[in-house]
Amino acid sequence: MIGGGLAGLSSAVALAEAGIHVRLFEKRPHLGGRATSYTLPDGSEVDNCQHVTLGCCTNLADFYCRVGADKKIRSYGRLYFADKQGRRSTIKSSVLPPPLHMAPSFAAFCSLTIADKRSIARAMLAIARAGGHPSGVDGASMLDWLHRMGQTPAAIERFWRVVLVSALDEELARISARYGIDVFWKAFLGSRKGYCVGIPTVPLADLYDGCREAIVRRGGEVRLRTGVREIRVHHDQFAGAVLEDGSEASADACIAAVPHDVLQNLLPPEMTANNGPLEGLRHLKTSPITGVHLWFDRSVMTEPFLTLLDHTTQWIFNKSLLHAAGETNGCAEGPMEGAMTGSTADAAPASGQYLQLVISASYDLVPRSRQEIIDLCLRDLAGVLPATREAKLVKATVIKEVNATFSPEPGVDRWRPCQASPVQNLFFAGDWTSTGWPATMEGAVRSGYLAAEAVLAASGKPRKFLQPDLPCEGLSKFWARRRENRR
Ligand SMILES: Cc1cc2nc3c(=O)[nH]c(=O)nc-3n(C[C@H](O)[C@H](O)[C@H](O)COP(=O)(O)OP(=O)(O)OC[C@H]3O[C@@H](n4cnc5c(N)ncnc54)[C@H](O)[C@@H]3O)c2cc1C
Repeated sequence: MIGGGLAGLSSAVALAEAGIHVRLFEKRPHLGGRATSYTLPDGSEVDNCQHVTLGCCTNLADFYCRVGADKKIRSYGRLYFADKQGRRSTIKSSVLPPPLHMAPSFAAFCSLTIADKRSIARAMLAIARAGGHPSGVDGASMLDWLHRMGQTPAAIERFWRVVLVSALDEELARISARYGIDVFWKAFLGSRKGYCVGIPTVPLADLYDGCREAIVRRGGEVRLRTGVREIRVHHDQFAGAVLEDGSEASADACIAAVPHDVLQNLLPPEMTANNGPLEGLRHLKTSPITGVHLWFDRSVMTEPFLTLLDHTTQWIFNKSLLHAAGETNGCAEGPMEGAMTGSTADAAPASGQYLQLVISASYDLVPRSRQEIIDLCLRDLAGVLPATREAKLVKATVIKEVNATFSPEPGVDRWRPCQASPVQNLFFAGDWTSTGWPATMEGAVRSGYLAAEAVLAASGKPRKFLQPDLPCEGLSKFWARRRENRR
């Protein structure tokens, strides 16, 4: 296994469980890839960027359970929003059956007019009635589709853009309509719990403690600080991996679970050249995410997290409160309403607060200086969290991930290779491989499970790891079935 991100780890753990002797080579000193944390020179541990999962991410949930990380994820059933006027709204589930379960809180959403809400409801109904697959979306951008659906400018800006830019790390004009619609179907319309936000109660690197153990216990090996510099291919067969120290590792099969741009440099150049079997790798584009970490001398926020409308800052995470949330009930399902501002707010440290802000598709911030970005974010915070105006900023860090995720632009699927490569005994895993999902932790784990299935199938011992989606409920179940029957 080359690469110890979520794709490599999930694949390695699955294969080890199936009795395969796995050796994992990871270039960095820690596991987790993009979804990890590290220690700053002053000793504070920060996530590379806040990562959240959703209830519809069934394979990531399965992986967390396998490695004992599920108890370190807390699920939140309420989403908090704040607009430029400082007005707060909450979205949560009601007793109504899907896809109507969020309708009462949506009706009370104070940052949208009745005309905005009517247009959104019409588009949501079109998605639901088509079982998540409305016709005529192939090749269209999400923005094209929203215009076609007669969405008001405020509905686009204050609703669709807010959800999708964070979920898919791209602007609406560059998002494939199929990917955008899928987010709403899987998270908000198909089932009652698909939207529940899962947030780690520990630094991200602590989620992977059980991975190494799961591999080593079954006779495998995890080697950190061990980069691979070349994948050798001979007569269309995997012929070994050359490590950075010049030594060579051989194996019956190899899974390359590195980012797609790294893979291009490891493979023989003719494979990714024009008309080569993996030419598509060169066509995948990437988009940036900026994380801003702010430490205040006092408490400035009571919510666990907040989504901002009409601001540069898109999400604020109250890290002090989220990390004070403690262990959860493991794989227990459903929203944990107790984890809101009440009981866990009391558990937050009395003085000082650490917030993490996230800006996805942050193209405009890439050329800006660290100080400019901090000043911009502080201006955003002054409006929605008035306590920050008086508070002293003790420390701040900005982490720009310029190539954070691949861009889910229309037609992107034709560039994403499947897990079984054109080379015998060489397989691929990574959020960029063909999974049907965008670049997310769920997509990475799906790719890892699919790669493990491909390795086992090729060795004559087929086994399934991929988990089904959440079952559809209510009217959505009826519409999903009707679509299946028509196909
Ligand atoms: C800032 C940011 C915020 C995000 N937020 C979210 C979120 O909230 N929710 C969500 O679901 N997803 C989020 N994502 C996306 C998510 O992090 C990724 O989709 C997922 O982690 C990708 O996993 P991966 O294993 O495919 O790739 P990576 O995590 O990139 O793993 C690849 C691994 O290969 C290693 N490697 C590279 N080169 C070599 C080499 N030559 N030899 C050996 N090892 C090598 C790397 O060090 C790395 O560990 C975010 C991503 C970023 C960057």
